[in-house]
Amino acid sequence: PSTDSVKVAVRVRPFSQREKNSGSKCVISMHSRTTTIIQDPKNPEHTKTFTFDLAYWSHNGFQKDKDGVFISADPGGKFAGQKEVFHDLGRGILDSAWQGYNTTLLAYGQTGSGKSYSMIGFGANKGIIPNVCEELFQAIENRDKNQEYQVCIILESDLLSRIKKPGGLRVREDQQLGFYVDGLKSVPCENYAQIERLMEQGAKIRTTASTNMNASSSRSHMIITIQFKQVFLDRDLTKQSSINLVDLAGSERQKSSGSEGDRLREGSRVNLSLTNLGNVISALADAAMGKKVLHVPYRDSVLTKLLQSALGGNSRTTLIAAISPADICYEETLSTLRYAERYDYEYLLSIRVMPQPH
Ligand code: ADP
Ligand code: MG
Repeated sequence: PSTDSVKVAVRVRPFSQREKNSGSKCVISMHSRTTTIIQDPKNPEHTKTFTFDLAYWSHNGFQKDKDGVFISADPGGKFAGQKEVFHDLGRGILDSAWQGYNTTLLAYGQTGSGKSYSMIGFGANKGIIPNVCEELFQAIENRDKNQEYQVCIILESDLLSRIKKPGGLRVREDQQLGFYVDGLKSVPCENYAQIERLMEQGAKIRTTASTNMNASSSRSHMIITIQFKQVFLDRDLTKQSSINLVDLAGSERQKSSGSEGDRLREGSRVNLSLTNLGNVISALADAAMGKKVLHVPYRDSVLTKLLQSALGGNSRTTLIAAISPADICYEETLSTLRYAERYDYEYLLSIRVMPQPH
């Protein structure tokens, strides 16, 4: 079994203005790879501790540099900015892509927990997607001339696939390609600016689609697929890999009191698809550990249908769990940590091989 196949990271963000204004207390602490959540700040011995492959402390201990980039306030401090996260997660994705592996990076967490910040970033604090793209194009420029490269982008949202109008977008199945959204094109790109423009268009379509469907776009999943092809002219060889970057819909439970009708159905659809994604990834994690897995339930939701080729086979999957530090988010944060815990390979291994105390 390979520990490469599923990797889990957790990242805690700074307080939001709203959390500050309401006098929130921080209930998260991190030490090396462990993350601890305190149930009640007045009762600090009630804690739960989780161990993941990587834990990023982005809550405090930072300052802005001259370009507005958040960096650690003291050298060697434990603060992790975008650079550290890219170094661990983005670099691995690029290495795999050059080697011809498919990779998938999923950002999971409640709305406002920092998923888009890690994936895309804001202003000078660029996230994983722009950094991955820029390094990929940079590396292509510097490569030798006996090779040709092609980078194509497909933007998908599970929301798009449900626009029900004649000639609208549908999920289709192809023997070679697997599932795909009919009508979405793979667009050749030569630099990150082109990709950015596509993402902006995609966000617009998503917002329009979601308003029509009476839901917010934070309640749909967004998938950016980078198809990377290397042609070795002198060896008559091509290598193809896809990098799948997924900003998942907010994982918060829909409160049945506040929402009704379409909105409630939308919420439970999202929660179901996230649960289903969880089942797929844990089946894959089981398989990676050498356990016999008879059935991977890809077909149970649009999201996992779209991700089937991205998650199966010899692809590598990373989940980044984004969490709020605030006591008011305790329940949602705990549920995010529990969701992420299911896929932690080493954790699963440890509970299987260690004798249970009586
Ligand atoms: P989500 O995509 O999960 O809904 P966002 O990424 O939009 O959440 O983050 C919500 C807010 O928190 C944004 O204003 C964002 O700038 C801020 N934020 C999130 N993560 C961080 C971080 N690691 N450092 C600084 N600000 C962050
Ligand atoms: Mg977001």
